[in-house]
Amino acid sequence: MSVKPNPTLSTSDADIAIAAGHLRAGGLVAFPTETVYGLGADATDDTAVARIYSTKGRPQINPLIVHVSDRSMATRFAVMTTMAAQLADACWPGPLTLVLSRREGAGASPVSRMVSAGLDSVAVRLPASDLARRLISTAGCPLAAPSANVSGTLSPTRASDVRFPPPPDGPLVIDGGACSVGIESTVVDCTGVRPVILRPGALTGEDIKAATGIEIGAATGGDLSAPKSPGQLAAHYAPATPVRMNAHTVAGDEALLAIGASPLVGAAQTLNLSPTGDLVEAAANFFAMLHELDRGKYSGIAVMEIPEIGLGAAINDRLRRAVISFATKID
Ligand code: AMP
Ligand code: MG
Repeated sequence: MSVKPNPTLSTSDADIAIAAGHLRAGGLVAFPTETVYGLGADATDDTAVARIYSTKGRPQINPLIVHVSDRSMATRFAVMTTMAAQLADACWPGPLTLVLSRREGAGASPVSRMVSAGLDSVAVRLPASDLARRLISTAGCPLAAPSANVSGTLSPTRASDVRFPPPPDGPLVIDGGACSVGIESTVVDCTGVRPVILRPGALTGEDIKAATGIEIGAATGGDLSAPKSPGQLAAHYAPATPVRMNAHTVAGDEALLAIGASPLVGAAQTLNLSPTGDLVEAAANFFAMLHELDRGKYSGIAVMEIPEIGLGAAINDRLRRAVISFATKID
């Protein structure tokens, strides 16, 4: 896709003030969080939120995560149950998104109904990124911010991978360098009796249990019909080049996404997620390396087997969707 580059801002106070003003005026700003770059808009402004959907080409049934700069901002529009508060105490600020009931009525200042895509719930996250929290508190409003990619394509973890037209349709982009975690947040539904993972992500169920003692129900995976997780579209996270997982051999016209000390030999180009097999490092490199290999003219991207433990489960979840996406694109 050839588009004009977006106007890019730095992380200086002056540039954050420009970005915050743009958000307050209904504009879009792409900004880094510790997970991936988000495409942000004032979550209380219907028109600004609508612009996120049109710019991303995101199905309107897929609700958005609302980002806050502190807990009190969240409780203005969401109901923080005791259980949700326990999860937030242990995991916020950080890559955990809580799906909570919307708070309406006296004393509430609700966010646009569009962020909930028709549901009675709202997804909320307090990011660990100082820059993200600075931007939100300077703007003075919660920010709806899905990943800053065209719907169905790879999430960006660097400013240079954010590809949208310039304003007014597209965003200003704050270049805050590479995202430290590199994989999207874990989404946990807290509206039922027991919490359930709707989307696997940067924190595993075991991480959350270790921090809180709370047992989290398992993810249901990419069930298109599951009304609780409308964003878990089976086809998602697609590079333009076909991806195959668990490769034990590689062809000369393929690119290789390797992991560990013994990458397969013979690929046209190889990038190694982590030569030491460290899954945290692999997650941080994952989207940037897939973007890189997707730019080459290869017949496919072979990915070596990634262990289904820790962050490996979230990486494999994204890879499975990349494989399905390509299969759906062929017909
Ligand atoms: P993204 O914005 O691309 O990181 O995706 C956000 C994820 O959170 C998607 O899987 C959404 O379906 C999910 N999500 C956001 N809001 C809600 C909600 N109110 N209920 C259930 N899932 C949600
Ligand atoms: Mg996304």
